[in-house]
Amino acid sequence: MSAENQWKNTDLVDESTSETTLLEVEDLMTHIHTERGTVRAVDGVSFDINRGETVCIVGESGSGKSVTCESLTRIISQPPAEIKQGRVTFDGTQLLDISEKEIRSIRGNRIAHVFQNPQSALDPVYTIGKQVVEAITIHEELEEDDARQRAIDLLRKVGISRAHERIDEYPHEFSGGMQQRAAIAIALAADPELLIADEPTTAVDVTVQARLIELLRGLSNAGMSMLWITHDLRVVAAIADRVIVMYGGTIVEEGPIKEVFTKPAHPYTQALFESYHGLADDSGRPAREHIPGDGCRFRGQCRFAVDECAGGNQPAFASVPDSSAHQAACVYYHNDRDPTQILEEATDARPIAPEVSDD
Ligand code: SF4
Repeated sequence: MSAENQWKNTDLVDESTSETTLLEVEDLMTHIHTERGTVRAVDGVSFDINRGETVCIVGESGSGKSVTCESLTRIISQPPAEIKQGRVTFDGTQLLDISEKEIRSIRGNRIAHVFQNPQSALDPVYTIGKQVVEAITIHEELEEDDARQRAIDLLRKVGISRAHERIDEYPHEFSGGMQQRAAIAIALAADPELLIADEPTTAVDVTVQARLIELLRGLSNAGMSMLWITHDLRVVAAIADRVIVMYGGTIVEEGPIKEVFTKPAHPYTQALFESYHGLADDSGRPAREHIPGDGCRFRGQCRFAVDECAGGNQPAFASVPDSSAHQAACVYYHNDRDPTQILEEATDARPIAPEVSDD
């Protein structure tokens, strides 16, 4: 690890952070100011990621997934966005409090991002090889030939055929899928501890997607943590250790992949699974700005809603019966209510959820 990688601002180190926890997000709130008003895009989100763990965030467009991820390392444009409050602790360092220079030394180095649009990561003026080599040598001092060979190996690993020739091509000579693979190679070149990926495999075909997932799972097994945003529940089933479900800027359900996929506990998660498989009509879902700003954000669509779902804060998380690590933000999981009826819906939803392996 380079000296820059070992950087740590001791004034901002939280010694209480668990040794297994790499990232801890507490009560994150990001607003987006628009001509039509302010949208509470991320509204009090808390979660953590352990070392070597892969966490997937799922939810429909506008649920706050991307804004959450872009707020963590402050790459979100401010304005129009505004990170209003919260704590983001990465290996003991408070990312929302450090200077721009300090956060830049972490971004792209200890924390790497991959975006749905690979062009945002590629400079059209330089060859792919130059950009991958540069990312490698930020992290590690290498002779030019060794860095070039490392770049060729990395491009091969992400599925670029004839990488030894293509390394000297420019981004415009690559197809969209190849550009995405090159962007992933650049993100991985610095050997990051945390990879934040927003729909990273959308632009690639199924074969390449499987290859990338295999590569990233291998890196995760070797200790790299990942935070993935994806609409594709098959991808979630293939890579996630844990799933976070977002709706209306809040987290509504969280748990180990197998438990969430086999027993979706929150009515929104059940609706999401059904719509993924074309079994539900979600065309009537309200636009983000029309989702209630208090109580349960899903109550307008929830057929289980009762009076206590309105007003006050989002319902607190409570454990799903027989599963302490699986939690839902729904009043039915609180002490004085019986969630049996909702969980019976989960049983109905289970056959339509993707298969989850025991690996
Ligand atoms: S809190 Fe109420 S409205 Fe929200 S999901 Fe649970 S039952 Fe439905």
